[in-house]
Amino acid sequence: MTAVTVLGLGPMGQALAGALLDAGHRTTVWNRTESKAAQLLSRGARWAQDPAQAVAASDVTLINVVDHDAVDAAVTAAGAGAADRVVVGLSSDTPDRALRTAALVSQAGGQYLDGAIMTPTDVIGTPDASVLYAGPREVFDAHRGVFEALGRATWVAEDHGRAAAFDMALLDVFWTAVGGFLHAVRVAGGQGIGPTELLPHVLGIVDIMPPVFTELAERVEADRHGDSSAPVSSAAASFRHLITASQSAGVDTGVLQTLKRYADHVVADGHGTDEVSRLAEAMGG
Ligand code: NDP
Repeated sequence: MTAVTVLGLGPMGQALAGALLDAGHRTTVWNRTESKAAQLLSRGARWAQDPAQAVAASDVTLINVVDHDAVDAAVTAAGAGAADRVVVGLSSDTPDRALRTAALVSQAGGQYLDGAIMTPTDVIGTPDASVLYAGPREVFDAHRGVFEALGRATWVAEDHGRAAAFDMALLDVFWTAVGGFLHAVRVAGGQGIGPTELLPHVLGIVDIMPPVFTELAERVEADRHGDSSAPVSSAAASFRHLITASQSAGVDTGVLQTLKRYADHVVADGHGTDEVSRLAEAMGG
């Protein structure tokens, strides 16, 4: 079994360290606020006095703090302790920040993998958890046993920024879906429909999304927007109705106004009969 350090014991760091203990790895922990380690220490984890001691204690160190400012502070504090060690950044941040952390670890003489955790804390340590890794393939392969103790481990690329790039795109889907649901709850509330009354119907919408996303992905990739079953002009009418309903309920219309602006732009360009996949172009990029 590998000696592993977990640096950062928020809800996610505690779940990661717990899964490593369950799998029988010798687990060392450090956190800015020491009291959060109490339960893990009672289960057999070892406490490190500071980041330098924490990183030096193990072959592999997982850093799971709020963002890469905090990751880089920990790497800097570890200093020469990171030499000949494997450091894995598991904090969510942008691809550029992953690259900067990789450079810092390299300067200290260590090897770096950047990871993106795609699941909540309660499934960590089970096959339902999914973590993406980017960086040297041989480093990932050498420590696959550690990563598989956390959940499904998928290596995506040598490029250290690639896991964070997936993370940003997937968080975009997640947060806009959460925002959409909460917005719908307020609009429905304006008509006296409660959240739990609305929920079964929302779950029906969630069920139809996989084929919708699949078709949109194929169409955008092929730049093929003809033969539409859901034209932009129809979506534009739907956005207008949603804006009116939201205004009646006294609910903010910002996101819907933005979608309507994209649709109006596409219609004005003469592509109103195209599939809604055409909206992606109006978003820039
Ligand atoms: P937070 O994002 O709130 O991070 C809390 C941890 O960051 C604590 O260990 C905290 O230390 C530490 N921290 C914050 N600022 C600093 C600092 N300046 N210096 C040192 N340590 C600092 O909680 P989570 O555990 O939920 O998330 C950790 C990471 O995991 C985040 O990047 C998050 O996006 C990612 N993630 C979390 C998921 C979840 O379901 N929770 C799901 C997927 C990814 P202290 O205890 O001392 O405050």
